[in-house]
Order: sequence, then C-alpha cells, then structure tokens
Amino acid sequence: MSRPTADTGMIGPVAMTTIVTTDLIGITRGRSFPTDELASYQASGCGWVPANSALTPQDAVADNNPWGAYGDLRLIPDMHTRVQVPNGPDANAPGLDFIHADICETDGRPWAACPRTLLRNEVERYREQLGLEVTAAFEHEFNLGELDAPLSHRAFSLGAQHHAASFGGWLLSALRAGGVEPEMFLPEYGKAQYEITCRPTQGVAAADRAVNVREITREIARQMGLAISFSPKLQEDGVSNGVHLHISLQDQQGNPVMYDPDTSNGLSTLGQHWAAGVLKYLPALCAFSAPTPISYLRLKPHHWSASYACLGQRNREASLRICPTITIGGKSPANQYNLEFRPLDATASPHLSMATVLMAGRLGIEQKLALNATTDEEPDTLSEAQRQARNIVALPGSLGEALECLRHHDELFDALPKPMMETYLAIKTQELKSTDSLTPTELCDHYARIY
Ligand code: GLU
Ligand code: MG
Repeated sequence: MSRPTADTGMIGPVAMTTIVTTDLIGITRGRSFPTDELASYQASGCGWVPANSALTPQDAVADNNPWGAYGDLRLIPDMHTRVQVPNGPDANAPGLDFIHADICETDGRPWAACPRTLLRNEVERYREQLGLEVTAAFEHEFNLGELDAPLSHRAFSLGAQHHAASFGGWLLSALRAGGVEPEMFLPEYGKAQYEITCRPTQGVAAADRAVNVREITREIARQMGLAISFSPKLQEDGVSNGVHLHISLQDQQGNPVMYDPDTSNGLSTLGQHWAAGVLKYLPALCAFSAPTPISYLRLKPHHWSASYACLGQRNREASLRICPTITIGGKSPANQYNLEFRPLDATASPHLSMATVLMAGRLGIEQKLALNATTDEEPDTLSEAQRQARNIVALPGSLGEALECLRHHDELFDALPKPMMETYLAIKTQELKSTDSLTPTELCDHYARIY
C-alpha cells in the first residue's frame, strides 16, 4: 500500500471506519469515513434513510413500505462493538474496521424498525421482568470454493480440512483479532462445506458476533479469491447450511436456570416453559428464522435441520435440541446446559431472529406453558396420531405459509413494532413475487449469490 510522503507529494488510500447496521433481511450495510475523524462521529453517528430498511434480498426497495422517499435517521455507533482486523491473506487489501450501530431518529430516540434495538429491548425485558440474563452463540455452516471439490473432500475428513487449511488458519486469526472468540473451524458433511463456531456471549453482543462471523468469513474468502455462500441450500438435493442458535438463561448471580439435575432430561420447570413458548410460536417464528423461499428447501426431514416443532434430547431432527453436557473430569453439566434452536439459516437477521425466539420463550414463561412436544425419535417417523397426542406440529412448508402463521399469531405479531412489521411484510411479499417463477435449481443459484 503506498503512503503519502512529504518528499514525493503522492497520496495513498486513507484508512476507513464504517458504521454499520444489519438489517431486517440480515444484510450488513453502512457508511464509511476516514478513521482519524472517528471522534466526530461517536456521539451523533452518520445519516441513514428509512427506506434502506425496506430493501429486498433482490436489492429493490419494497413497494408499499411505510417510508417511501421521506425521512432521515442516524446510525449511532455502539463504540464497544468496534471490530478491527488489520490485515488478511491479501497484503494489499485494507483491513476491516466497523462498528455496529443502533438506528435512531435525528433527535436520538430509537427508531421503531431497528432490529438491534428490538433485541436490546427484549434482553432488557428478560432482566427487568424475569430477573434473567441471556447467553447465546450462533454456529454457522457455509460452502467454500467450488461445489465439485476434489475427491479428497470426504465428509469431516482431514483431507477436506487440509484443502481449506490456509483459509481456516486466516479465518481463526482474523476472528480472534476481531474479538469474536472463535472456537472451531471444521469440515462438514457436504462437499466443500465447513462450519465455524465461536464462544457464547451475553445479550445483543451474541447477535453482533454472528454478523462479525459472517462478515469476517466473507472477507477472508474474498481476499483469497474463493467463492463462499452461507445460503441454506446450494443444490436442491445437496447438504444444507444451517445456523444453530444456542441459548441459555442465568439469574442475576450468573447461576444457570434452565438446568435441573432431578428431571429426566435436565430441563428445569422454567426451561420447560421457555421451550414450550418457543415451540408454540415456532410456525410463526419461521417467518423470521427461515425467512426466504430457499429456507424451505432445508426445513425438511433428514436434513438434521428441523421440520416439526418439537424438543428432543441430543436429537438433531428436533427444532429445539437439548445439547449434550460433558462430565469427563468431573465437569459440572449446569454451566454447559443449553438449548439449540435449529430452524434458522443465514438468510435471517441474527438480531431479529434472536429477539423473536426470546419473545416466544418469554411468553412461554409468562403463560407457564406446559411442554408436551418432546420426542427423542425423529419426528417424521412418528405416526400422525403420535404427533397429535404430543402436540407436535409440522413447520410451515414455504415462506408464504410461515407469513400466514405470523399474521395469525396475534400475541407475537402485536408484540412487534408495527412499522417494523409493515416493512418486513412489504419486503417478504415482494421477495415472494419476484422469485415465484424460479425452479428449485434457479432458487439455489439465486440465493447462493446473495447470501
Ligand atoms: N447441516 C445441518 C443443517 O442444515 C446441520 C448439521 C449439524 O448438525 O451440524 O442444519
Ligand atoms: Mg454442523
């Protein structure tokens, strides 16, 4: 990179910092300025346009959004969230430097359609109304490079790992630099499919961290000239890319409250109410967690994703999985105990999907809902009568069905800010219209390029 010097009078690229927001459809957008002017952006941020939040994945501003050409907003940076990755595999590429923001009105009041504010408000409700803290981590699967990877790419193999070793090493290093606390980079079941996991963290930071994982992973691939996609399906009959959201709750002293060693599956009474809430609203939640037409090529039996609203212990076909705890070396299960929400993919906004899952769980706690929908079998192998007896319902088969469920789940729908829902429905209605003539193969190609 050339730098300005007094003797030559030449100039070079200035280092930039970007204030970002990750919108309702999970795309991170923002505005950049010279890093040495950061101080002047801290308090009042940069400008933003309401209709930016009404963009469809096809990059069109959705018709019938509540904003039109009017209005002005600010992106107010949350300075603790700054991500800096000074360099990567391409020595000439500028580093990453961005800060997550809340979307506010020009007088500083929170904007009603900001997904990060929605999540923060929900996390605060847990603290204030229930005395609980939320800890969470998102795991991401993605495809790297060409789908016709060489034969050495056997599922979970050292060969596959080695195929992407340079990428993996750079990724872990960049994630560490960005404060993401990566855990593992691993080859997955599919050809050219990998997974990256990171440590759990509290509240809004967990969703910010999911964004950081996606952006840093994409950047390392871009610098190495590798194709990458987090889209849930790259081939109609291929292995799916999921995002799994691990959640646990603690009291104000940090003690885990979802675990009870005296129950058969370890789930406390509070944990049961929480899970029952998530499962009750799950068909509607899918409108946020599986929010694109292609999401429904993944939510099918035998994808280890989810196709029925049920909880299962260590069951990878269950929508909510009770994850294993390890007792080797006398480790205590209580602090490891967490529930994994599986009907989620990377076409979803981490903030919006986490907020709505938390809302559903909170409604379950408030209503003291009983947990019936449990099975340690694969739910599609049960008879319809067995499923009915346990109140295990099928998840929506399409985005259109999920949106219908959302419209009919008043408690959830009414708890969400009206302008946000109007915007979201406008986006999704237009997205459905613009993709309805695509065949499954065309859908795969289309979304692979977007996510
Ligand atoms: N690929 C699966 C999915 O779409 C998940 C496999 C796993 O359990 O890691 O969710
Ligand atoms: Mg996996």
